[in-house]
Amino acid sequence: MSLLEDLRSALGEGGVIEGETLAARTTSDMSGTGTSLPRAVLRPRSTAQLSAIMKLCHAAGAPVIPQGGLTGLAGGANAAGNAFSVSLELLRGIEEVDQASATMVVKAGTPLEDCQRAAVENGLFLALDLGSRGSCQIGGNLSTNAGGIRVIRYGMAREQVLGLEVVLADGTILSSMNRMLKNNAGYDLKHLFIGSEGTLGIITRAVLRLHPPPGEITTVLCAVQRYEDVVALLRRAQSVLGGILAFEAMWRDYFAFNTQALKLRVFEGSHPFCVILESTMPVDDIETFLAACLEDQLIQDALVARSHAQAREMWSVREGHPIEVLPNLLNFDVSLPIGQIGGYAEACTAALLARWPQAHVSFYGHVGDSNVHICVGTHYGPGEDMHDVDEIVYRVLGNYHGSISAEHGIGTLKRPYLHLSRSPEELALMRSLKQALDPKGILNPGKVI
Ligand SMILES: Cc1cc2nc3c(=O)[nH]c(=O)nc-3n(C[C@H](O)[C@H](O)[C@H](O)COP(=O)(O)OP(=O)(O)OC[C@H]3O[C@@H](n4cnc5c(N)ncnc54)[C@H](O)[C@@H]3O)c2cc1C
Repeated sequence: MSLLEDLRSALGEGGVIEGETLAARTTSDMSGTGTSLPRAVLRPRSTAQLSAIMKLCHAAGAPVIPQGGLTGLAGGANAAGNAFSVSLELLRGIEEVDQASATMVVKAGTPLEDCQRAAVENGLFLALDLGSRGSCQIGGNLSTNAGGIRVIRYGMAREQVLGLEVVLADGTILSSMNRMLKNNAGYDLKHLFIGSEGTLGIITRAVLRLHPPPGEITTVLCAVQRYEDVVALLRRAQSVLGGILAFEAMWRDYFAFNTQALKLRVFEGSHPFCVILESTMPVDDIETFLAACLEDQLIQDALVARSHAQAREMWSVREGHPIEVLPNLLNFDVSLPIGQIGGYAEACTAALLARWPQAHVSFYGHVGDSNVHICVGTHYGPGEDMHDVDEIVYRVLGNYHGSISAEHGIGTLKRPYLHLSRSPEELALMRSLKQALDPKGILNPGKVI
């Protein structure tokens, strides 16, 4: 039998999609940079089925690309014509919510939003939240070590995981479905797979850590004059309002572009920075805090959302979908020490505008987590392309010793620049780990390293 026949028989009816029935969306993640359809899409229904097909692919040396919800922004799940894509979409569902240990056992193909809902239904809270929550899958979230808007309080995806089940390149099932917060019995192997973007193993199930519900969340929008004041506001909010749940900054051009496109009139006049912060303190205490900040001229203006609709409106500016219409839009995801983000934004803008004076360059993001996103939309001249923008953004970042990826991962798009954020010794160890776990190089080849 051929490999494809073996795969069809291992997966049963509907388990292999190939030829004309392949959907165009399987070519690329949300970066839109994938161009080939996969050789076929393999859809296991269980860990055992995934293990069986990995054994077959391993024996044949056939490359395999894990695909989750395809909302990634780094090209990590992009298909290749010579590789099978493994879709986790049928490996879906919540197996258990344990209220006593505040844990959830979930299959990797489950959309994040389903997990959030199940936690709430059980009087608990899943602290992972991102704009793609309706489409991204837990397996994709963990393999990218996703960040999102709650990192400032609860940490990244890695911090929400207690246990993991993974299928290795040769089909071995590695089950580390630990449910305890404390377990120091040797190496904590799950961390090898969290954030490795499907290059070391395919995540099939996870034990997630849940939290008590945070309580009623109040959303506030503040207008701020200087980047130093954004940082001072962050520190004051953390000490006066307790554990804030979000702290997101938007630079003037980003805020202006989105409010105009969304036809929202928020503040009188325009301000160099706008900050969304979320707190669970009583509204009266939040208003007292804001009044003191106004008095000290730390902020220039503030709006407290009085309804979920108003809070949604504030977040819609931050999510910034209107900006997607810009020509050749590139979205960068860098991190650097919080105090230096303002200086980096100025230097990076100056360098980009010196090359493309008409370009749109704007900044926004999870500043409370040292993470800023950069939107660059420009028309290229002859012989120019997106790599010319990459070079400038990352060259300036190098002066600040920042990281080329805060939360989106490396995928294919940032692979040529990984050496800017990792030392030769770190890269050598990454290659040794890849060689040890996937000696034939069949798992997500060409990604990350
Ligand atoms: C509107 C929007 C908002 C976003 N906001 C954020 C944000 O705030 N923070 C953030 O971090 N990201 C954000 N993202 C990016 C994206 O949603 C995350 O990277 C997400 O974690 C990807 O999950 P996915 O299931 O879509 O994975 P995919 O895009 O399908 O895959 C991502 C990577 O994981 C691998 N992979 C997928 N599933 C598995 C598995 N089961 N086992 C092993 N490897 C696997 C793939 O091979 C690929 O390398 C956003 C994206 C959009 C479109």
